Amino acid sequence: MSGPAAGPRVFLASRNRKKIQEMERILREHVPGLVVVGIDDLSEADHYDEPVEDQPTFEGNALLKARAGRAATGLPSLADDSGLCVDALNGMPGVLSARWAGPPKSDARNNELLLAQLADVPDERRGAHFQCAVAFCHDGGEELTSGVMPGRVIHEVRGTGGFGYDVLFEADDRPGLTTAELSVEDKDAISHRGWALRRMAPIVGRVLG
Ligand code: IMP
Repeated sequence: MSGPAAGPRVFLASRNRKKIQEMERILREHVPGLVVVGIDDLSEADHYDEPVEDQPTFEGNALLKARAGRAATGLPSLADDSGLCVDALNGMPGVLSARWAGPPKSDARNNELLLAQLADVPDERRGAHFQCAVAFCHDGGEELTSGVMPGRVIHEVRGTGGFGYDVLFEADDRPGLTTAELSVEDKDAISHRGWALRRMAPIVGRVLG
């Protein structure tokens, strides 16, 4: 493991620097000085093999990754899994969100495909929600939390922030704006990931505190 250890450490099974920082920000409110160690912070000795995310639920995939993280690092480990569930598509793309349009992973192609699939679906049937599960595996057991952001899929991409399906999604809590048009802080406050993380933070605090 590299880098100075300022406080207790948890492993987060992610290479996404923004996600690692977001998690650190939220968790530090409950565990001052907490350091979140990402996949790219690991030494070769602690090599983390990313498991195939083959579970049918967000919870299952988050647990899979958190367990693999703990096995690789020996650290208490967190992982999240998330996606967009569209009512008119019976909850799809769901756990298949990242690769909905097939490999290689492309947000632009995913969005194009989603728009094509919903081309004839009228406004009143364009409901959707983002969902996120966060898993935490530690010496004393395993915990799961989840969060949801309800909203709707619009008819054309709008906005330059965020990632994934943000350019096509208006949250019920921020009507008229896509989540790609919200500030990072504003999206955190209402997002599926924000809710799941804020629910997990006191649990991590209790375990490490
Ligand atoms: P992951 O859980 O970070 O791997 O996300 C899975 C996929 O779900 C992403 O690649 C996106 O396509 C989609 N997704 C998850 N959360 C969001 C979000 O907050 N905004 C937009 N797309 C998201």
